[in-house]
Formats: sequence, structure tokens, C-alpha cells
Amino acid sequence: MKLGIVGAGMVGSSAAFACTMRGVASRIVLVDLNGARAKAEAEDIAHAVPFASPVQVEAGRYADLSGSGVVILACGVSQKPGEARLQLLSRNAEVFRQVVAEVTRHAPEAILVVASNPVDIMGQVTQSLSGLPAGRVIGSGTILDTARFRWLLGRHLGIAPRSVHAYVLGEHGDSEVLAWSAARAGSVSVESFAAQMRSPLTDAIRAEIDTGVRRAAYTIIEGKGATWYGIGAGLARIVAAIAGDEQAVLTVSTVGDVLDVPGVACSLPRIVGREGITATLMPDLSDIERDALNASAFLLKQSFDSLSLSRAERASRA
Ligand code: ADP
Repeated sequence: MKLGIVGAGMVGSSAAFACTMRGVASRIVLVDLNGARAKAEAEDIAHAVPFASPVQVEAGRYADLSGSGVVILACGVSQKPGEARLQLLSRNAEVFRQVVAEVTRHAPEAILVVASNPVDIMGQVTQSLSGLPAGRVIGSGTILDTARFRWLLGRHLGIAPRSVHAYVLGEHGDSEVLAWSAARAGSVSVESFAAQMRSPLTDAIRAEIDTGVRRAAYTIIEGKGATWYGIGAGLARIVAAIAGDEQAVLTVSTVGDVLDVPGVACSLPRIVGREGITATLMPDLSDIERDALNASAFLLKQSFDSLSLSRAERASRA
């Protein structure tokens, strides 16, 4: 499968690297406003190919995206000092207006995977601008937050994160919801697993894990300015699910109804394969978790609605 990536910054190039090491594509094309950056990243990543599986990695223009099965959108502008979040959002929506038009013109068959932040809203903007069916526009959403939750739970329980089935729902951001009541290790609840392993999930430990998930990005940004490896690997996981038609359950974002909030993009466990997202699951949640998910979805809906997309652009919303 051919994979296109628009935006060869830290997130886009980390995704390209992770996809190269996983061998999920036969050809990867990097497109960036800064052509020299795309060329340099493509060459650097290509030098890893002899240590991985055969992948052709190159820089290109939008026309070179034709025939892509998936295009990752990881482009965008960064926040100016003193700039409000909504202003940044409007500037990024403007970038996407041009980028989405080019991508859908040259790669109309591609499934679009959106990574640019705020990812839920940029995913909904992409769906509106492209007019594609909702399931063909996938935001990386909480795939990374879910990974952080599984990693921290696995560390506490002394087991591989892959054996932990726990999801973070809603916004990829401050209002996200850790679905504790649906969390499983092996086939039992994490509480039961922890008790059997004699390392109970006390309130203090739950709070520590909650903060560890919720504050992870802030902590990493404090140390190195931005995050890229985790999200790069998460994007490669989504591409693998599409390329392999896996029907994998992943917490990703797409436009749909969430509890009491209609037509909003946020994360729930969803089935991902060659056609994109084909189904959405609602985990069994406690009343508190349901309220928190409703509030998170409502916040996102409000942010999207406050963006000035034209009526025609909004009309294509699912
Ligand atoms: P991140 O950490 O999210 O990857 P970066 O700033 O490192 O952020 O990367 C964003 C990339 O998006 C930059 O390489 C930038 O040149 C690119 N970019 C910005 N606007 C456009 C655009 N209109 N078309 C293509 N690439 C763009």
C-alpha cells in the first residue's frame, strides 16, 4: 500500500519512521511546504530501510500522492505567543482548506488519518472540507492516551501493556475520560487483577495513573518541547489496521453522535479496517464516566461550531 504523509515535521516524520520499521507500506511519500525538510526527512528515514523491510521512502508533491491508500495529515502551524486557542484553530483550519483540497484531488480513494492538533476538531474540519463519509476520515484521537493508560496500568500490575484492555474516551485533551469501570486485564476487571496480584489499585494509585495519562503531554513538552515518538507509533498502528484490513478495535476519533451530543468528533473504541471505521462501540460506563463523556463531547462540539467554516463546507458534515 502507498502511504502519503502531509507535514514532515516531528509528528509526520516520526509516523513515517514508525511505518517504515513496521513495514506497513510499500511506498511512503512525504509532502511539506518546506520541500527541503521533506527531502531530508525522507532520506534520513530511507537509510533505516536496510535494517527494516523494503519500503520506498521519498519526498514529493501533492500529485505524487495519487494512488495512496492512506494519507496522514500532520501539517499545521504552531501557536504564536499570546495567541488564543481558537485563533490557532482558525489558522490551522485555513491550512487544511488548501491541504485537504489538494489531497482529495490527487488521492480521492485515500482514507485520511488526521494527526494535527486539536485533533478531534481538525478531524471534523477535514471531514467537512472533504465531504468524505465520516468513517473515511479518522482522527488519531485518544489512541496515544489509551496507550499511556495501558502502559501505566501494565506497569502497576506487572504485566505487558498489550494484556491490558483499557480505553481513554472523548477529547484528546484535558476533558478526556479514563474508562476505569470498563478496564480489563486478562479477562477480569483491573481491580480484581490487582487484588489477585496483591498490588491493589488504591485511590492514590488511581489518581497517580489518572494524572500520568492526563498530564503526560505537558510533562514531555516541559522536557523536550513537543511529543512525537508515541504518536508516530500510534499513527503507524492505525495505518497497519487499514493496510491489513484488521478490523482492529482502536480508540480513534470520527464524526458521529456521542451520547446526547449529535454530530461531534471524539474518541470511542472503533473497528478499523480497509474501509476505515466501520463500527463504533460504547463501553459500559459508570454514571460519572457517562456524564464526563457527554461534557467532553459537548465541549468539542462547541469549539467546532465556533469555527467560521462556510455554510457549504458545513453542509457536507455527516
Ligand atoms: P509537529 O510537532 O506537530 O509535527 P511541526 O511544526 O514539527 O509540528 O510540523 C508541522 C509541519 O507542517 C512543518 O514541517 C510545516 O512545514 C508543515 N506545514 C505547515 N503548513 C503546511 C502546508 N500548508 N502544507 C504542507 N505542510 C505544511
